[in-house]
Amino acid sequence: MPLLVMKFGGTSVADLDRIKNAAEKVKREVERGYDVIVIVSAMSGKTNELVNWVETTSPLYDAREYDAVVSSGENITAGLMALTLQEMDVPARSWQGWQVPLKTTSAHAAARIEEIPRDNIDAKFAEGMKVAVVAGFQGISPEGRITTLGRGGSDTTAVAFAAAFDAERCDIYTDVDGVYTTDPRITDKARKLDKIAFEEMLELASLGAKVLQTRSVELAMRFNVRLRVLSSFEDNDETSGTLVCSEEEIMESNVVSGVAYSRDEAKMTLISVADRPGVAAAIFGPLAEAGVNVDMIVQDISEEGRTNITFSCPVNQVARAEQAVLKAKDDGEINFHGLVADKDVAKVSVVGIGMRSHTGVAAKMFESLSAEGVNIKVISTSEIKISVLIDRKYMELAVQALHDAFGLEKTA
Ligand code: ADP
Ligand code: ASP
Ligand code: MG
Repeated sequence: MPLLVMKFGGTSVADLDRIKNAAEKVKREVERGYDVIVIVSAMSGKTNELVNWVETTSPLYDAREYDAVVSSGENITAGLMALTLQEMDVPARSWQGWQVPLKTTSAHAAARIEEIPRDNIDAKFAEGMKVAVVAGFQGISPEGRITTLGRGGSDTTAVAFAAAFDAERCDIYTDVDGVYTTDPRITDKARKLDKIAFEEMLELASLGAKVLQTRSVELAMRFNVRLRVLSSFEDNDETSGTLVCSEEEIMESNVVSGVAYSRDEAKMTLISVADRPGVAAAIFGPLAEAGVNVDMIVQDISEEGRTNITFSCPVNQVARAEQAVLKAKDDGEINFHGLVADKDVAKVSVVGIGMRSHTGVAAKMFESLSAEGVNIKVISTSEIKISVLIDRKYMELAVQALHDAFGLEKTA
């Protein structure tokens, strides 16, 4: 039997009517002759509520218990989806992560999938089950504890199942009808893309476009999964949505394909650091050990043997970062005169594989930000992206200005 993976995000299963709407889409695929693995998220808002309960109960929570609580949202939707399908005479069964078992590392709250044995689910398909409904976002560690895959992790569950079960395609049903040139919530000029290359999607996701979890794109690229993003609120056909595919499948690529943003960034500066070999290692080693995700780094030119070092990290890691560098200073590993944290910054990035062969993208980006009076605090580049850190209050303005400057708007 050909097999499809269909993933429904939080807004697509937000209440019983929406679950029914999603189940009807699943039934249609079964009627077309597919076996289906359905991956479900928690009902929208549920995971946030669970996270909040954990943080209120225990601010420095034990991550194993965080996962025990936060994974539970998906269990409810999995059971309800299986029941809804059964009510429609579709033979369906639900599976929690541990029942599959979806084996992960023991990095709680950010676990990585290691293996998905097929036997249990295959045996049920062989008995006539048509739909396996699997709770997304969760797995089981080697120690036998429940793990979660990081926020947005159901996308990754879906792609991993598509790879493990050789699915014909992995369809990600969500509240937008595809991947856009930028978040359609920021500008109504955003244009839907019919296709986007894995590399571009990977950059957009890791730079903040939460339509797909970064890890899901990585997996799809590695295992060559046909990955599609489409709306759960519309009637779809084979050509609906956005296909995330290899570069070779895209005839003409734009220099810039999209603009991404990440709202919750912070910038930290260590002032007057003694500039000597090994100093960067002495700073960023302790930060890594403390679990701080350092993103951009800049070192000023050195004057009289001292320099400033600036880095960015997620705003909710500032306290941890401060603790780590102050401890390194107390331990005598580094020497600096001051530490300044700016918690009101955002990162805005332009992404496109065409940048590999075109010059002038950075100049155009900086000109258009300057025309809007937006000051750039930190810049970083890679082969196919340019990111800038700016004051958060200019974030939407910057996204809109760049979207216009690179001609990404709708043509019709
Ligand atoms: P789900 O609950 O289905 O997983 P998410 O909220 O995680 O949905 O992701 C969908 C959202 O991603 C959209 O509502 C949209 O606001 C946002 N988004 C950000 N960037 C983009 C983009 N480039 N294209 C489409 N959607 C985007
Ligand atoms: N429910 C989880 C979250 O909100 C996982 C997901 O929806 O992908 O992060
Ligand atoms: Mg999501």
